[in-house]
Amino acid sequence: MLLVKGKVKSVYKPGNEPKSVFIEYHDKITAGNGEKEDYPVGKGSLCCQISSILFDKLEEFGIKTHYIRQIGPNKMLCKELDILPLEVIVRNRAAGSIVKTTTIQEGQPIIPAIVEFFLKDDSKQDPLLTRDRVKLMGIDPMPLVEQASNINEYLLNIFNLIGFDLIDFKIEFGVDAHGELYLADEISPDSMRLWDKNTQSKYDKDLFRNDEGDIVPAYRTILSKLQSTFI
Ligand code: 5GP
Repeated sequence: MLLVKGKVKSVYKPGNEPKSVFIEYHDKITAGNGEKEDYPVGKGSLCCQISSILFDKLEEFGIKTHYIRQIGPNKMLCKELDILPLEVIVRNRAAGSIVKTTTIQEGQPIIPAIVEFFLKDDSKQDPLLTRDRVKLMGIDPMPLVEQASNINEYLLNIFNLIGFDLIDFKIEFGVDAHGELYLADEISPDSMRLWDKNTQSKYDKDLFRNDEGDIVPAYRTILSKLQSTFI
């Protein structure tokens, strides 16, 4: 049964697995709040496999994630959660919206990394939230900041080992019936910026956003480097 049809993924409720969902990653990419879209062949499976490896590694480091196991090239079984209506963004270097909306220059290091909150609501254009507003929404931001900072340290190390600078990334969290917090959604080059350490070339969704190249070979490079280093 289809639970949620997102822009690039669908969430289904399997008949035989209580408290679980399966998430299907589609061969689809969108940008600009869905204004621009394309259907790159193989993209769903690349994002699913990259996410699976990263969820597995983060679990090894003690981060609670919704990931249970991969059940097909572009499908994963996950815990069923109530997803918080927030996009949690961690920035190690300036790029994207922080450059567009401030005087900060692209590429400027952000040390220590910052954690920001955006409302997850396309109809409101995902605005930047203050922590006070997050609290007024009934969500304590502090455990999210702590988890996001820990996840950042692990992801920085993982990508450093395969030769990439992790510029920034977006994550989402969900809570289970006991109020326990889990990392949810996906972690892939669709939701992060990755620049080659030597050349500073982009290997992420900005290639599509800015018409700067084909994402499929870039995502394939990330997957094969993760596989050869961590599997
Ligand atoms: P920015 O705030 O610069 O637009 O995005 C910061 C980081 O979060 C980037 O790595 C970007 O890819 C990711 N990000 C922000 N919003 C979204 C979103 O709605 N979907 C996805 N997949 N990633 C996002």
